Amino acid sequence: MSTTRTAQLMEGAGLARRIIEETATKAAEISRFTGTAPCLATVLVGEDPASVTYVRMKRARCAKAGIQSRHIPLPSTTTTVELVDTIAALSRDPGVHGILLQHPCGPHIDERAAFEAISPEKDVDGVTMHSFAAMSFALPGFVSCTPGGIMQLLDAYDVELAGKHAVVVGRSAILGKPVGMLLLAKDATVTYCHSRTTDLPAIVREADIVVAAVGRPRLIRGEDIKPGAVVLDAGYNPGNVGDVDFDAARTRARLITPVPGGVGPMTIAVLLAQTVQAAENQLGLQER
Ligand code: NAP
Repeated sequence: MSTTRTAQLMEGAGLARRIIEETATKAAEISRFTGTAPCLATVLVGEDPASVTYVRMKRARCAKAGIQSRHIPLPSTTTTVELVDTIAALSRDPGVHGILLQHPCGPHIDERAAFEAISPEKDVDGVTMHSFAAMSFALPGFVSCTPGGIMQLLDAYDVELAGKHAVVVGRSAILGKPVGMLLLAKDATVTYCHSRTTDLPAIVREADIVVAAVGRPRLIRGEDIKPGAVVLDAGYNPGNVGDVDFDAARTRARLITPVPGGVGPMTIAVLLAQTVQAAENQLGLQER
């Protein structure tokens, strides 16, 4: 008989399904009550195949949840000024409740300028400086979707965060940095690691909670996971491989997200939920 321990899986796919079902119910209520369906505008610059697929997938999920989507495909020659103008017009359009700018937009675009043209109340992807600041100050606003999904997974599995050492590997504006702020808000002691960190394995070995957000297959070795740790792997690399060596890590962790089916599905669930929340806010339904 094997005595090897195996971590419990944190099933993002199942949790995401439940969130999307609740979101669909809310979307139907909004449509019935106001005659207006929640609407997400998707903006895509160029025809990068991965981006085209992501947008198609997000729109299909919207349709299934009773959320309308309005797609704005722009040529790869679009300038920053043209993109900003397009997004600013969507920000003013009362028929649009949420705006998603698929990125990367291409090296010639000033992405930050484009993101900042999204009005905060429509920033359902949580990419603006306003949303980041609101999240950091624990004020109302929309969170970046993958970090938001990670926090909901931790909550669903009753993971205690206060006083725990959380190590976030990666510091991107949409993932590593915001998830660290959200963990801090829950009283975790947070360490950020990145490409210039010295001795990453030594820091990971101290972690009660590991969030991997890098994009390097199996960068985090199983032997460096502290026994009983909680491991969330946001990494998604070719061949359905995460940033954590899953097979080795699951013999030491207490809870671990699979790749795929862990963090990934949560991202889209948060996007849909925030779009419906945005519609509710803009249609003045919060006080019902
Ligand atoms: P990113 O913008 O490329 O950032 C990667 C981060 O990893 C950077 O902060 C970088 O450090 C750090 N890094 C690179 N090499 C490292 C190393 N050897 N040791 C430690 N840190 C290192 O990527 P991202 O957009 O945050 O995405 C990260 C991963 O998550 C990717 O696999 C992506 O596909 C995935 N992702 C998944 C979802 C989802 O829905 N599941 C959503 C978004 C992203 P520096 O800052 O020093 O360069």
